[in-house]
Amino acid sequence: MIKVAKFGGSSVADAEQFKKVKSIVRSDPDRRFVVVSAAGKRFSGDNKLTDLLLLVNAHIAYHVDCTQLLKDIEARFVEIATDLKLTYPIAEKFEEFSSVIESLSPEYIVSRGEWFTARLMAEYLGMPFLDAADAIVFRHDGTVDMERTATQMKDAVQRLGTFVLPGFYGATIDGTIKLFQRGGGDITGAVLARCIDAHIYENWTDVSGFLSADPRIVDNPRTIHRITFDEMRELSYMGASVLQEEAIFPVREVGIPIQIKNTNLPEKRGTIIRETAEEGAREHLITGIAGKKDFIAVHISKAHMSNEVGIVRRALAVFERYGVSVEHIPTGVDSFGIVVNGSDVEDKIYLIVNDLQQELKPDSVTVVDKLALISVVGRNMSRRPGTSGRVFGALGEAGINIRMITQSSQEISIIMGVNNEDFERAINVIYQAFVADQMVDMVRGDVQ
Ligand code: ASP
Repeated sequence: MIKVAKFGGSSVADAEQFKKVKSIVRSDPDRRFVVVSAAGKRFSGDNKLTDLLLLVNAHIAYHVDCTQLLKDIEARFVEIATDLKLTYPIAEKFEEFSSVIESLSPEYIVSRGEWFTARLMAEYLGMPFLDAADAIVFRHDGTVDMERTATQMKDAVQRLGTFVLPGFYGATIDGTIKLFQRGGGDITGAVLARCIDAHIYENWTDVSGFLSADPRIVDNPRTIHRITFDEMRELSYMGASVLQEEAIFPVREVGIPIQIKNTNLPEKRGTIIRETAEEGAREHLITGIAGKKDFIAVHISKAHMSNEVGIVRRALAVFERYGVSVEHIPTGVDSFGIVVNGSDVEDKIYLIVNDLQQELKPDSVTVVDKLALISVVGRNMSRRPGTSGRVFGALGEAGINIRMITQSSQEISIIMGVNNEDFERAINVIYQAFVADQMVDMVRGDVQ
């Protein structure tokens, strides 16, 4: 079994965190390929090394002296190396880097956060260090050349058998360092997992997986143990913060599951993300609830609209002309609605309504603003009749008015519009009706 274990910035923030990483890696002989971010925050209010290195770049650009800043960064590395009694001459190497800093490219400078962190981690774990500049190959347009990268990675696996790889950067074939977007260490881990045909991509962070609802709205929400990529996309689109798309697609395309785990609580199950749910597993009816406020719905009605070819297209063309992206289109027989982000139309809604009136000649156009959308996501909902009835029933009992309803095409989510002021209460009501009530919600088997 091949496991790629990627550790985020907070998991490698100081010597104590390095020790946790070692015990995690040592506890499973399959964890032979480790990816690290640059040392991150040790406590809230602390600085991530990547942010400090970006600040170094800003100093250089404006010709401001950054000696002290570089000393602060060096101190973070020296502290880790000293606490762990490492022999790598970190102070000397960092000073070499500092002394030529003005001649280095901004991307090279920022990449040293992961480079030095990985160097130290490699010695501490007793594993070889593989420079990402020799493994991740970028094209000049900033995309990854997967074929070349796979060749380099496979070759490194043959040569080294095991390694620590710094995340977040790679190089073009002429050796120029290129960075991924912020948080891109996750992408490095996914690319590595794909290139070496890993069985699983472990993403070690400081939370115990994805939560079934926003903890600022619902008290102590349940952790989602299993989720599909599609469900995760629905939840993240609606504001639940999860892995970036770019970090998902390299492994998703080839069916490698991602496991989110907590470096500080490794015994917790975390969340596993797969293409499809495991057969025979015990499942919750609803996977998670997410939502966002401040949408606007424009309702258009016209008698015998159902016979009028092209009316929806013409309405959409109006929104397109104003550069507004459409979120949902709930439809009736002689009416339909167009739901958009409030902030996208703030200054143009009157112009849009005016154009709709002229071009569609509808009987009425009404605008509902301050609308919150709530998405109830669950791959098992389509198999169980009555789910939406229960959602609406629970909201009805709580006296919450539902202003709009739509369902995603794969039937893995129901999306409801409620007034902004009912948003938090509606989420709690749905959570209590489904997720908290585990005994009733299990599609098969008992509580996990
Ligand atoms: N160190 C980089 C950042 O802070 C990349 C990462 O942590 O994944 O954005």
